[in-house]
Amino acid sequence: MRVVVTGGAGFLGSHLCERLLAEGHAVFCLDNLITGHPENVALLQGRAGFEFAAQDVSEPFDVPGAVDAVLHFASPASPPDYLRHPLATLRVGSHGTENALELARRKGARFLLASTSEVYGDPDVSPQPETYWGQVNPNGPRSVYDEAKRFAEAMTAAYRRHHGVDARIVRIFNTYGPRMRPHDGRVVSNFIVQALAGAELTVYGDGSQTRSLCYVSDLVEGIVRMLYLAPGEEARGPVNLGNPEEMTVGDIARLVLELTGSSSRMRHEPLPQDDPRRRCPDIARAERLLGWRPRVGAREGLLQTIAYFRSVLPAPAAAPAY
Ligand code: UDP
Repeated sequence: MRVVVTGGAGFLGSHLCERLLAEGHAVFCLDNLITGHPENVALLQGRAGFEFAAQDVSEPFDVPGAVDAVLHFASPASPPDYLRHPLATLRVGSHGTENALELARRKGARFLLASTSEVYGDPDVSPQPETYWGQVNPNGPRSVYDEAKRFAEAMTAAYRRHHGVDARIVRIFNTYGPRMRPHDGRVVSNFIVQALAGAELTVYGDGSQTRSLCYVSDLVEGIVRMLYLAPGEEARGPVNLGNPEEMTVGDIARLVLELTGSSSRMRHEPLPQDDPRRRCPDIARAERLLGWRPRVGAREGLLQTIAYFRSVLPAPAAAPAY
């Protein structure tokens, strides 16, 4: 296949491009690099079958030649990133999604939307099944991401109904692993970077809110299976992809301290507005449709991620000798 990946220079997108190339597909990656990393492109540019265009997909764009699949992964995804780029986040979820769907329609290609557990907002149902419609504040600070992705789902479903595009949706829950930006502001990267630097771990609120952390290789496996699924009623999703191992943020902090061997302490900071209290995927649909469930537990995945951050971060300055 020749696969277009929007946001292919990002954390998830670059792992996905790598996996698709390894399976023998050609990959055309588009990214405007506002949160994607040029180094991820440099890494991929050496691979046979890889092409890159610096392109904001919120503006109309075309890809020359045949295209078999369009994977729409472009968007800031970390809360500090989308709060810094609120309008670009809304645009890529709306215009960007429509432009990517248009490309799929023109080329007769399959389409896959990277949606998010944020469509469930601050859920009053846990774990969250795909049938739950969510509880989202439509104009709070997080709405720039939540509502953009909800709109993106609506646009994807409309292209399927109105234009007959084979359009699919996955809802991605908190994913972590090598190649996260050290300062992207998410819980895993913040805690590891802080622990390795001997700095205090910034726990927002009392740390009792939960998240379910999925290791990136597991997530990519789920995405690829969704892409390969034979067309049909069920292939359209939405399908939750995430690890149902639910942990409190306090537990994540303690595990990071244990695995890094850090003696850092925790420091409590105010909970951001509308921060979801709980988040845990119901993955029964993914298990049934894709035969998929995550294999990498938090301990193993965090060890891999810590090793990555150790390799890219400067070693902390040695304590001065007196
Ligand atoms: N969080 C935290 N300290 C940090 C960063 C995040 O306590 O330094 C909390 C945040 O308030 C949220 C959870 O960790 O409850 C996950 O936040 P993240 O930004 O990783 O992603 P989210 O799931 O909110 O999109």
